[in-house]
Amino acid sequence: MKDKLDSIQKRIEAAALRCGRDPRAITLVAVSKTRSADEIREAVRAGALLFGENYVKEAEDKIKGLQDLHVPFHLIGHLQSNKAKIAVRLFDLVHSVDSLSLATELHKQAKKIGKIQNILVQVNTGMEESKSGIDEKDLEPLIRDISVFDHLRVMGLMTIPPYDADPETVRPFFKALRLARDRIDTLRIPSVSMNELSMGMTGDFETAIEEGATLVRIGTAIFGERT
Ligand SMILES: *Cc1c(COP(=O)(O)O)cnc(C)c1O
Repeated sequence: MKDKLDSIQKRIEAAALRCGRDPRAITLVAVSKTRSADEIREAVRAGALLFGENYVKEAEDKIKGLQDLHVPFHLIGHLQSNKAKIAVRLFDLVHSVDSLSLATELHKQAKKIGKIQNILVQVNTGMEESKSGIDEKDLEPLIRDISVFDHLRVMGLMTIPPYDADPETVRPFFKALRLARDRIDTLRIPSVSMNELSMGMTGDFETAIEEGATLVRIGTAIFGERT
């Protein structure tokens, strides 16, 4: 796993340098869904600093046994409002906020435990029926509504583009997320920052970096194929 992780870090660095970005501006989220707590321990020994999980219950079970590692976890999968209470206890960043009702519940639960919950707003750049995320046209009103919640902090945007094996086919969706970010950023909405762009996975993270990704979510290239 050390070799795989080192190779990914090198590819992240090379992609950043190719497009004139500082490699330190890009953070690797090691996606550990379906992986065991032992595999996560191995990844930490190999140098992984941050993990992404998709399912709250699965993450809760694993994280309980990994407290001694003190590694942060992000939620990258869809969040149901009835899991918000657990989510605010587990995750440093929730990448997948895509409705006011979910934000309202997250805010309520974060407030209860005196936490300021960092979040990203997920945008459905491919306008796919099957995907979570909001339409770009609804982004500004949602972010304005969320910005009044004093226990949530919007840090940027996330997208999962339509699947395609060719990263060039996916590039326009990454670009769309960056342009959406730039547009929201110019609005200077109080207490909203637009520094983070969560995009890019095993098959396309270099393209995502070229388009401005700050958080790349990589599972398969680190842990191998999921079964
Ligand atoms: C599973 C998953 C990833 C990682 O995908 P790989 O192709 O294994 O790198 C990234 N983001 C999300 C939202 C995922 O569900």
